[in-house]
Amino acid sequence: MKGKMEFHTVRGYQLLEQDKRVLTSSMEDYLEMIYRHSLESGYIRINTLSELLNVHPSSATKMVQKLVKSGMVNYQKYGIIFLTEKGKQVGQYLYDRHNIIEKFLSIIGINENILVETELIEHNISPNTLLNIDLFNKFLEENPDFAERFREFKEARSGTITGRDA
Ligand code: MN
Repeated sequence: MKGKMEFHTVRGYQLLEQDKRVLTSSMEDYLEMIYRHSLESGYIRINTLSELLNVHPSSATKMVQKLVKSGMVNYQKYGIIFLTEKGKQVGQYLYDRHNIIEKFLSIIGINENILVETELIEHNISPNTLLNIDLFNKFLEENPDFAERFREFKEARSGTITGRDA
């Protein structure tokens, strides 16, 4: 699992780089959602996609056509979208990136708006930083006592701040 995620993360990013980052943040959101949904069924319909992203079907169609141009998806008949091989690899990178950031925020104790925070961070983070955050998450998973000490440290510190204010 560890090796797998790192392989896909790096490979997916290399494919993004080859395209000189032609994917806008919005295209990344679409590709991530297509990947997420395709994990279960292998494809996604344009109507499902527009519902999940809360956009009008015509906007979704426009964006999907951009993803077709960049070689990420096939979209032909019956409103069905399939990922290409490249789309699968880049999609996996975007999907992993989201999950790594969300997990990190959860570890440091962010409970409020964690999804919104993740969405804000994910589009701008470098793959090197992401890989190191992934390692940090895994380190804490393997050493739960460190995570526990951090929680205690945080609690003690927020107590201090409250005390100072009082
Ligand atoms: Mn996301």
